[in-house]
Amino acid sequence: MTADHTLFAIAQEVQHCTACNLHKGRTRAVPGEGPANARIMLIGEGPGYHEDRQGRPFVGPSGQFLTDLLALAGLRRDEVYIANVVKCRPPQNRDPEPEEIATCTKLFLMRQIAAIDPAVIVTLGRFSMGLFLPGERISRIHGQPRYVQGRLIVPMIHPAAALHQPQNRPLLEADFRRLPEILAEAERQRKTASTPAPQPDEPPEQLRLF
Ligand code: URA
Repeated sequence: MTADHTLFAIAQEVQHCTACNLHKGRTRAVPGEGPANARIMLIGEGPGYHEDRQGRPFVGPSGQFLTDLLALAGLRRDEVYIANVVKCRPPQNRDPEPEEIATCTKLFLMRQIAAIDPAVIVTLGRFSMGLFLPGERISRIHGQPRYVQGRLIVPMIHPAAALHQPQNRPLLEADFRRLPEILAEAERQRKTASTPAPQPDEPPEQLRLF
């Protein structure tokens, strides 16, 4: 099965999922969208009002802002894969509960990540960060790339948090501006990892540290 087929199959399952209570309040489930071969995957928290109506991720005000942030990194929205921790809107946009997160990510998000195999995952907000960097504080580590199980994770402030608290906006914009450099580094590391070790008389390739 190709990554495209896998993502399609997962999206079908998401539409019909009743594995947790969040399905009861949804208008439409929001599986995620983007190319199966995306090098960057962005993971938000969960659908809000507009996403629930349209069945697409980040289409409300924070989605417009996300599109602007991607442009700062020289990226178009249709070049990245955009998904969420939970696929159905929590009632009144409350925080997703640990059990909802555990169920939904095991059933869907982790399989989406495996299918896409992105070089870089950008986590948007604390719930998404918590999947990869539990116990960290977003205010302390935002914008700092870390390898987690061989994949580069870049924790970022959620765009909605930057819209509500304007002091966060320049921080988030600065973090997005660094994405091209971070992606290039991740791709370099991947290439090195998949290249046979250099022979003793070859100089080792310089590994840059962040
Ligand atoms: N906020 C999120 O975390 N995800 C969306 O899809 C929209 C808003």
